[in-house]
Amino acid sequence: MSSPRVSLLGVPIDVVTQNEAVDLINSYLRTEEDLNNQNNLSEGAGLAGPAPGGHPERKGGSVGGKPGVALPRNQRHVMTPNNEMLVEAAHREDFRQLLNSTDLNIPDSTGLIWMARLTGQRLPERVTGVDTVTALCGSLTEETPIFLLGAKPGIAETAAQNLMSRNPRLRVVGCFTGSPREEDAPAIVQMIRAAAPHLLLVAFGAPAQDLWIARHLKEFPSVRVAIGIGGTFDFLAGVRKRAPVWMQKTGLEWLWRLIREPRRIGRIWRAVVVFPLLVLRYGRNAPH
Ligand code: UDP
Repeated sequence: MSSPRVSLLGVPIDVVTQNEAVDLINSYLRTEEDLNNQNNLSEGAGLAGPAPGGHPERKGGSVGGKPGVALPRNQRHVMTPNNEMLVEAAHREDFRQLLNSTDLNIPDSTGLIWMARLTGQRLPERVTGVDTVTALCGSLTEETPIFLLGAKPGIAETAAQNLMSRNPRLRVVGCFTGSPREEDAPAIVQMIRAAAPHLLLVAFGAPAQDLWIARHLKEFPSVRVAIGIGGTFDFLAGVRKRAPVWMQKTGLEWLWRLIREPRRIGRIWRAVVVFPLLVLRYGRNAPH
């Protein structure tokens, strides 16, 4: 199961609705279970071949400036690109390559929907990280243990409690603040390996969280899907409030963010001004 993709500034974005995104991620989680069962019958088979459910266009190229570091085909990296991330990708070759190597890039901002239309393409709807995580975690059972990494101390725990109160069958096997710094990686890796989750949610902010996943996913063989999810735990824990729906729909979410978090003005400028200008100039292609 895979989806068609549109392209903006050389970054592929999947043409998926919210429900389709959740179904796809669920299929990645389930498919790997089937694959493991098959592997028990025929040792090693499946790991070398193309994994079912992966994006056929996934390139698995060099990541984080390290040529040859490709994700194993039996693990999935899902990203949640928005305007700012595409501006970052326009200036950073390694980040753009990473966005080209993932299994699923959900359209996390209204700007992507508009700019797709402007370039003669179509994305059906905005699919946010927070809605995807909420719906996904609402559908999981004990068989899919999850680990929440990132955000300020106590936030992931509160987010986990809120998710578990909505779905008592959800099994959270760990929460940890951590950091994307490499000197902290060994302790985090050890912790995740011991917890053995199938789903790993990483909230270090982009691009750090996704570059971190790309560097370390191979070190957690139990993890079938890792998702870089930005401020999702803050929203789930209730420490950050989402913009009213009418603001989200009319593309005024930036104004909400500017009022509530004025220190983010640089990021908002890149999202609201730089991103559309780049798309007007380069359209579907990567700037060169
Ligand atoms: N974060 C973190 N460690 C860091 C940087 C960020 O845990 O070194 C967390 C931050 O607390 C927040 C999340 O990463 O929960 C996303 O940060 P950001 O404010 O950049 O969110 P976004 O705008 O990407 O949703």
